[in-house]
Amino acid sequence: MDLKSKLTKTFSLEKEFGIKNAVAHYQLSPEELHKITVEKGQGVEVDSGALAINTGKFTGRAPNDRFIVKDEITAEDVWWGKVNMPFDSDKFDALYNKVVNYLSGKELYVRDAYVCADQNYRTNIRVVNEYPWSNLFCYNMFLRPNEAELENFTADWKIVNAPDFQAVPEVDGTRSKNFAILNFKRKIALIGGTGYTGEMKKGIFSALNFILPTQKNTLPMHCSANVGEEGDTAIFFGLSGTGKTTLSADPSRKLIGDDEHGWTKENTVFNFEGGCYAKVIDLTEESEPDIFRAIKKGAILENVGIDENAKVDFEDDSITQNTRVSYPIEHIDNVQPDLVGENPKNIFFLTADAFGVLPPISKLTPGQAAYHFISGYTAKVAGTEAGINEPVPSFSACFGAPFMPLHPTRYAEMLSDKMREAGVNVWLINTGWTGGPYGTGNRMKLKYTRAMIAEALQGNLSTVEFEEHEIFGLHMPKTCPNVPADVLNPRNTWKDKDAYDAKAKQLAKSFKDNFEKFEEYANPEIMAGAPKFE
Ligand code: ATP
Ligand code: MN
Repeated sequence: MDLKSKLTKTFSLEKEFGIKNAVAHYQLSPEELHKITVEKGQGVEVDSGALAINTGKFTGRAPNDRFIVKDEITAEDVWWGKVNMPFDSDKFDALYNKVVNYLSGKELYVRDAYVCADQNYRTNIRVVNEYPWSNLFCYNMFLRPNEAELENFTADWKIVNAPDFQAVPEVDGTRSKNFAILNFKRKIALIGGTGYTGEMKKGIFSALNFILPTQKNTLPMHCSANVGEEGDTAIFFGLSGTGKTTLSADPSRKLIGDDEHGWTKENTVFNFEGGCYAKVIDLTEESEPDIFRAIKKGAILENVGIDENAKVDFEDDSITQNTRVSYPIEHIDNVQPDLVGENPKNIFFLTADAFGVLPPISKLTPGQAAYHFISGYTAKVAGTEAGINEPVPSFSACFGAPFMPLHPTRYAEMLSDKMREAGVNVWLINTGWTGGPYGTGNRMKLKYTRAMIAEALQGNLSTVEFEEHEIFGLHMPKTCPNVPADVLNPRNTWKDKDAYDAKAKQLAKSFKDNFEKFEEYANPEIMAGAPKFE
């Protein structure tokens, strides 16, 4: 069937969404969306052929404006609080009607896509976008059905995305003019007032993070994944900026995905998505060749600086530090064809410790693994403002609290069971600072981090000697091929040992304070994984 005519033949925006008299561009090709974006003056083509756009006022997610409709599906199971804020079901219906009225009569972009690469878990999504480039983002990031699959497509979930719509908080029940609301009964992600594309992908991620564990006995994970020549899967958990995307793009291993995966009862690990969303601040071809080369026709750059010759300045952070590129996963050379792997052999927890305390690589006991997973530690460096040199510890359970609707211990228990069954090695990798805290020390060289991971994956650390960290109890290899031995124990990299010990104690205290709310759920094995703290 002619895809263009499918819209009028098999579904109607009015019947399905309540959007009236809209001109709907259905399933446009990436080339068409690129062209329309440029014609409308909403983007420019850069020298590599990629499309560059600005997402508007929002250049990152707005976690304080993310809600879940509280109804009979969610009321009992969701861990309500600051992260998962309840939204009234009637208020949702009213706001939804306002948004579709707003979209009525407009020129819109509609796309059918799906998530979950493992066919047993496949979930169809129909997206309605106000902007062509948002629709191209969905083409890049979600999985792409073929023509036969489009013939009988029925949407399991819908995304309605209206960046230019503005809510009225007093009337609509939102906090601000922008919002991202999940409705599990109506199976809708409603996003308005923000053009940040990541809201769409993380909206669907959050929906799956509720559905998969509660309905399909599958563990959703905020992690990247790749697979070696022997079929050995590795997964990399970590909060934003810790290296999931960077470290999973490894020419010697096939990429499964860079951000969102499920671990099934059938012992598979599958990508939810069909594309990557990489940070590009300070990107160079030399340090990250795979990502650099993926920025070609089809890719969308967000909020980057561009000169008069349409050349991208990756160092330009005048709009945001969070400059990004999205591209279909095939833009990476070495990709696992079905985006599905087997049970992982190695799990890496990535942290960017700006205090320079944690070792660059250490091996975790099962108790430590559970403790660090529930803690979800990384550090935030206090922006780029002059004079601010103090990093702030940041704890986000399961390395992804903003996207996890259930209580963290539910994910942690599933992970512990799966790790035990699969007999995986678990490693903690500090991609953050060495030789001192942020301001004094330096970020661990990417080259060394890559080498440590490569050696762990090849099993070369199973024969070396380890020493135990005094405070954190972590097991640090004393030697690692292709890495200078003096970076392996962080204390050795600090000139002032007393300063190191003091900083380590301070960080341990932050861990302890954060973990207090979880202590009642933790067994003695997990508590033994905590840092020692008097
Ligand atoms: P998000 O969840 O926001 O997508 P992410 O975990 O995928 O975040 P990356 O996009 O991989 O994070 O970002 C890591 C950034 O840190 C990159 O810009 C990378 O160049 C930089 N970096 C510097 N040193 C290292 C290191 N030793 N290991 C990993 N990344 C490093
Ligand atoms: Mn990433």
